[in-house]
Amino acid sequence: MALFSLPTLYAHTYSFPASDCEVTESILEKQNLISSVVEFYQQKAFKRYQQNIFVEFNNSENSNSCNVLQMSAGARRGPRIKVAHGILKNFKPTSLVHAVCHELGHLLGKVSGTDAGYTGTTYEHDLSVEGEADYFAGTCVLEYLLRNSPNSSSNLYPLIRKIGIESYGAIYPNTFIDESRALNEIYTADSGINSDYPNVSCRMLSYLSGTLNNPRPKCWFNPILKPTNSFGQAL
Ligand SMILES: [Zn+2]
Repeated sequence: MALFSLPTLYAHTYSFPASDCEVTESILEKQNLISSVVEFYQQKAFKRYQQNIFVEFNNSENSNSCNVLQMSAGARRGPRIKVAHGILKNFKPTSLVHAVCHELGHLLGKVSGTDAGYTGTTYEHDLSVEGEADYFAGTCVLEYLLRNSPNSSSNLYPLIRKIGIESYGAIYPNTFIDESRALNEIYTADSGINSDYPNVSCRMLSYLSGTLNNPRPKCWFNPILKPTNSFGQAL
């Protein structure tokens, strides 16, 4: 089990044909891209953790990382994001922005595993659940595009939606993704907060809801017993 893999994986793990861990120019560019997205949130991270987020590019420490589509976040030894080599090689830049935004959501979001009533031992309770990470990603991708678009007044929503479809499509291949299908779903189990991965249409809806600053969708966030976050604040 990866050291920092919980609440685990952005991406499913895929097997690729064996390949080396050569760091090419495009890999370096992608690393810089990820670092630049993280940099924007360092102040926020420092307020929460009294430490900056450490980004670990896992090129050679684990030979599997060369062939694994994985990015993960953890905070046990300080906030960090771990990026396996395979996801750098195989994800396009916009999907990497989406992925790192999701991981930042685990570290900086407002709905934690504790809020969801999670009491297991293999989960970092204070980190945000998957639905919240997706919700945060919607705001984060928007902010990234606003910082980097020559004409930020243009309507970015279609591009943001396209990035979501491509990114979730990469980790749920051959799955129909339609956020409107999740609009009427109501999550009722446990605390009313799903601590696990919602279905992909619900994930897409969460992401777009974050972009639009809409309420968190009830397909994963429907708090019945605990309508506050881990700071005791109403959401
Ligand atoms: Zn996640």
